[in-house]
Amino acid sequence: KSKRSPKPSWLRVKLPTGEEYKKVRNIVSEHKLHTICESGNCPNMGECWGAGTATFMILGNICTRSCGFCSVATGKPLPADELEPAKVARSVSLMSVKHCVITSVDRDDLPDGGSIIWAKTVNAIRKASPTTTMETLIPDFAGKWENLQRIIDVAPEIVSHNLETVRRLTKQVRIQAKYDRSLEVLRRLKKGGMRTKSGVMLGLGETDEEVIETMEDLRSVGCDILTLGQYLQPTKKHLPVAEFVHPDRFKKYEKLGLEMGFRFVESGPLVRSSYHAEKHLFD
Ligand code: SF4
Ligand code: SF4
Repeated sequence: KSKRSPKPSWLRVKLPTGEEYKKVRNIVSEHKLHTICESGNCPNMGECWGAGTATFMILGNICTRSCGFCSVATGKPLPADELEPAKVARSVSLMSVKHCVITSVDRDDLPDGGSIIWAKTVNAIRKASPTTTMETLIPDFAGKWENLQRIIDVAPEIVSHNLETVRRLTKQVRIQAKYDRSLEVLRRLKKGGMRTKSGVMLGLGETDEEVIETMEDLRSVGCDILTLGQYLQPTKKHLPVAEFVHPDRFKKYEKLGLEMGFRFVESGPLVRSSYHAEKHLFD
């Protein structure tokens, strides 16, 4: 039996502060807006909201999948909300978000995998906030490529799909997903002209060689942006943390990643896949 080990000092976080953060905070509570930043109690809220970045989740809060690291509830989702694209667009505009990250639960229950609401959301945000840029963090659509095409058709500025872990641990970490299918998602996005991004969590028991292999696999499908962060166990029922990866090792991967040809690498214990998202827009 393993006891939960205490967190090392580099994982302690400051409480969010700053004028811009407070302003956004007030708007969020006044209008009862829903963000992942807040519901996930993300440690970077002060920094991100201060910089005009926020993350929203669409297609409900019940997921058809049950990844071992994720705190989203698994079950039968409610029917898709046709008004959701307009609601998210309103939040983005009220919060004056300059760069938004949109993500969703997986909707393997829907024939379109939720891709129609996805596309409508991108279009609604564009209409309401024409200067706001977007990153869509999308599911694998169970390999139904006509659904992935709907995302490519609306061309968000960045499209991300997280590999989450190395090949060997994929079955354990994301039971209904497949490593090669996720690589194929990224490959097709790139072929469709998208700027692509992927995230991997460290500390689940992967070896150094496996991390490097994963980075190479991502480069082999043309992935432009990489995020590497420490996995933290949301509750005792989730996968345990195998290791707290030292900040120096994160630095090493950052350097290596840039040498491999990633345009951006965010690598550090507190990095989340939407961290510094606004910096990943390049020409
Ligand atoms: Fe929100 Fe992502 Fe920033 Fe966390 S890292 S505050 S979830 S935008
Ligand atoms: Fe969580 Fe996404 Fe996995 Fe669903 S598919 S359980 S939302 S990580």
